[in-house]
Amino acid sequence: MQPRFVPPRFPHVPLGLSTRDLVALGLAILLGIPLGMLISTGWLQHRAPQPARLEVRVFIPGAGIVSMDLERYLVGVVAAEMPASFPVEALKAQAVAARTRTLHQMVALGGSGCALHPGADVCTDPNHDQAWISEDQFRARVGLLAYVRLWPRLVQAVEATSGQALFFHGKLIDAVYHSASGGQTENSEDVWSEYVPYLRSVQSPWEAGVPPPYSREVREFTVSELEQKLGVRVNLRLVRDQAPLFAWQRDEAARWAAANGGIAVLARSRTGRVMEIAVGSRRLKGSELRNLLGLRSTLLHLQIRPAAAGTSRGGLGSRAGTGAGTDRAAGAALVVETRGYGHGVGLSQWGAAGMARAGFNYRQILQYYYSGTLVQEVSVGSPAPSPASPRAPGLSSAPHPYPSVIK
Ligand SMILES: [Zn+2]
Repeated sequence: MQPRFVPPRFPHVPLGLSTRDLVALGLAILLGIPLGMLISTGWLQHRAPQPARLEVRVFIPGAGIVSMDLERYLVGVVAAEMPASFPVEALKAQAVAARTRTLHQMVALGGSGCALHPGADVCTDPNHDQAWISEDQFRARVGLLAYVRLWPRLVQAVEATSGQALFFHGKLIDAVYHSASGGQTENSEDVWSEYVPYLRSVQSPWEAGVPPPYSREVREFTVSELEQKLGVRVNLRLVRDQAPLFAWQRDEAARWAAANGGIAVLARSRTGRVMEIAVGSRRLKGSELRNLLGLRSTLLHLQIRPAAAGTSRGGLGSRAGTGAGTDRAAGAALVVETRGYGHGVGLSQWGAAGMARAGFNYRQILQYYYSGTLVQEVSVGSPAPSPASPRAPGLSSAPHPYPSVIK
């Protein structure tokens, strides 16, 4: 008759709440207030989704081996390895590459650790492992104002990618990287002789606006400088920049260089990097020449600046009369023009910055420069991720076959 009228079962409760409602309300108040407080203070968010913590043992000159939270260590690596002013997606790509390299090397996860410092997973020597600087060092380096602006970007890049690493067919990769490729990255086997499936040569057109010296550098060496650095007699009038077409011509070119003190490029990679070169009686890998002369890359071309040109620059060393040959006269020099900066394998940092500016995110950047890889979460609780790249036999004894990023 009057379906709308429902007599209150408990008329003494004016709001029409049942006992069950009251109990629920009481519980909500009892539990809700402290819960709300916990949430508002950030305690719960901080605790709940935290992945398992990893400690990395870092050798720091002067301090010895320091055990450090992995993610905190990575902020210092990104700070040292990439300009903090780079786009955030590039910083994130750097963070994931750095995390991958570190995990790949950690002894607790089956890695080889730092060969120079037994007991350490990594060291902070940029010629050996990834570079690292402390927060204080970063502040001192960039100044307080820039520190306040830039440090949070580094922390953000690491935190936003927390626990993520690069995998190839489910295994951690050896995520090598370099500063700038000069337009095209390099196949691993053309630099270190080991074929690694995810370290393939790719175009890097986003490096178009890269400033020198990352994009290009010109160096000059006098005869005496070359002879001192390479330990051989050199005749600067004999330079062959063009590599022979066929392998059998290499020995011939090397014999020619040895007999005449000439310089002959013996082999170039598909991207144009010098793989082998003869300087007088020495036959060197491109990477050896790079180290001996302190060049930025092996993507180089050679020219002679003849003595007759006479555009001598002060302080270039040998002057007339210091040697017998005419190429020893003032002004004669080997002009070496390099493109890019670093070994050219894997991620190009300047390429990452260019891709980020073009709208790509860090996953796209990484999966472009590391062919066939995926950015995935690292599950530390499950079986430890094992290093992916089977080292070539010739390299297996050396835990660090790759020179780290030389910036
Ligand atoms: Zn080391």
